Amino acid sequence: MNTDTKNVFAPNCSLNMDSHDFVKLGHGSGGTMSAHLLENVFLKTLANPLLNQLEDATVLEIVSDKIAVTIDSYVVSPIFFPGGNIGSLAIHGTINDLAMRGAKPLYIAGSFILEEGLPIDDLKTIIISMQQACDQAKIKFIAGDTKVVNKGAADKIFITTCGIGLIENTFIPSVSKARLGDKVIVSGDIGLHGVAVMCARESFDLETTIESDSAPLNELVDAVLAIHPEIHCLRDITRGGLATVLNEIVSASNVAVEIDESKIPINPEVAAVCAILGLDPLYVACEGRLIAIVPQEQAELVLDIMRKHALGTNAQIIGEVNEATKQRVILKSKIGSKRFLDKLANEQLPRIC
Ligand code: MG
Repeated sequence: MNTDTKNVFAPNCSLNMDSHDFVKLGHGSGGTMSAHLLENVFLKTLANPLLNQLEDATVLEIVSDKIAVTIDSYVVSPIFFPGGNIGSLAIHGTINDLAMRGAKPLYIAGSFILEEGLPIDDLKTIIISMQQACDQAKIKFIAGDTKVVNKGAADKIFITTCGIGLIENTFIPSVSKARLGDKVIVSGDIGLHGVAVMCARESFDLETTIESDSAPLNELVDAVLAIHPEIHCLRDITRGGLATVLNEIVSASNVAVEIDESKIPINPEVAAVCAILGLDPLYVACEGRLIAIVPQEQAELVLDIMRKHALGTNAQIIGEVNEATKQRVILKSKIGSKRFLDKLANEQLPRIC
C-alpha cells in the first residue's frame, strides 16, 4: 500500500551546515539550502531504506486485513523539558495512540514547521531524540516534510506525526466497549508530564525533580494483550488528564464509572506543585500512562502483568464501571463523600503537548 505523504527529504548538497547556525527562510525554499538542511540534519539521523527512497511518496508493503492510522500535532512549550522534548513526545504520542487500538506500531511520517531563527543544534537534538524513540519502539520513520515560516509566525518548532500500525487481534479495544462490572486500571502515577512542562516554563519559579512520564506504551500493551486479548478499552491519559479520559469513555460506552480517590496513584511532589499552582492533578496530562477497562474476572491478572513491566510498576485498580448515573464519572473522596468529575470546561494547561 502507498502513503500519500510528499517525501521531500532531498539528495546531496555540498553546502557546509556550520555556516548556518540558525534556521533561515532559505531552508524552506526547496532549493540547495533546504537540501542541505534535510541531508545534514534529518537524513543524517533518520535514514533508513524506506525513507531513503526519496520519492514523492514512500511505498510500503503491508499484508493485513486491518491497519490503524493516527495523526497528531505537537506544539509543546517549552520544546525541551525534564524527561523529553517535542521530538520524543511526538513519537511517543503517536505510538501510544496506535497501541490504544491494539495496533502494533510500524511506521511514522512527520511534518515539521520551523520558525526562522531556531538554533540548528536544537533541531538536531530533537531529531536525534525522535530516532532514539523510534528505535526503542522498533518503528521506522518513513516520510517527512519541512517548512520554514518567518520569525513570529510559529514558536520555534511544531511537529505533526502520522502513525501506521498493524492490527493482528480480532478484538479491538474501544472507548465504546466499557461494560457493567468492568474494572478501571490506571497504569501508573498521574500528572507527571503536565507538571514537568509547567515547571520548565520560565514564568514559574519552581524547582522540582519531576520529569515527564513521556514513554512508548506499546510494549506494556503487548504484554497485556498477549495474555488477555479482550481488554475492553485502552486510552492513553493525555490532554485533560485522567478525568477527561474517563469522561470520554463513559460518554462513548453509555455507562457510569466510579473511582476511588484513595486508590489513584499521585506522586507527592506532583500533588504539592498542583496545590501551589491551583491545578487538579486529575486533569493534568500524562504522556506515558493509560487507562484500561477490563472484565472484572481478568482485572487482578492484568494488574499483575502491568506491574511486571517498567512502565506499569505503580498500576492500580482505581474503580469500576456501573450504571449509577449514565455518562458520568463519580469520584469517591478519601473521606467517603461522592461527587461528579466533569469534563474540563476550559484548557487548564495550554500547549502541554
Ligand atoms: Mg490518545
